[in-house]
Amino acid sequence: MTKKSESERRPQVLVVEDEESFVDALGVGLDREGFDVTVARDGHEAVTLFDKNNFDFVLLDLMLPRMSGLDVCRFIRAKSDVPIIIVSAKGEEVDMVLMLELGADDYVTKPYRLRELVARIRAVMRRRENHEPPVCEEEQIICGRIRMDIDARRCFVGDHEIKLRKKEFALLRLLLENPGRVMTREVLIDRIWGNDYVGDTKTLDVHIKRLRTLIESDPKNPVNITTVRGVGYRFEVSADE
Ligand code: CA
Repeated sequence: MTKKSESERRPQVLVVEDEESFVDALGVGLDREGFDVTVARDGHEAVTLFDKNNFDFVLLDLMLPRMSGLDVCRFIRAKSDVPIIIVSAKGEEVDMVLMLELGADDYVTKPYRLRELVARIRAVMRRRENHEPPVCEEEQIICGRIRMDIDARRCFVGDHEIKLRKKEFALLRLLLENPGRVMTREVLIDRIWGNDYVGDTKTLDVHIKRLRTLIESDPKNPVNITTVRGVGYRFEVSADE
């Protein structure tokens, strides 16, 4: 990592992890990457430390002594919007959809490479920085180069108007209102179709595909509506916007 200025504050990371080998590796590795690391070795310690400090990031192992990672996640989300990455062990039965619905930002599976983990942490933090709440004024949503006029039910990409069907409009609006967040298939289907969602489960994907053809520069390599495999979709403002 390149040093910018000495006065620049290092991000404070709470690492909740009970396996010593991981604790040691993370402590050294994250410090080298420019993070200040505080370690909690069980769930109770995690919530106690969280209450007393101002963390910029939480890396949360799921299987913990004394209080589960799930309960720690719930506890933190009830008080704070701090980014959380969940860590699970290979083969662990984990309901990732539930974790994301509880407000986790991303997840990694052990064993992971430190380089990969750091990239994920940086990506989550960058997404949060890039995604100040969308500008919503006079019934308009502006997100990157996309602008939705809610009352008039019109949508523009740059200066170009795109024609959206009713469900497509509702789906894009929901994604734009939650930039940077993983929206699970369940939530999207429930909110857009509710009980109307009949037939095969590909309906959502078909709508996503069509939205991509309308808003993405390269629909085959989408950067705005990205797929979170096995979970759902996420709207992101791409870096060059
Ligand atoms: Ca563990």
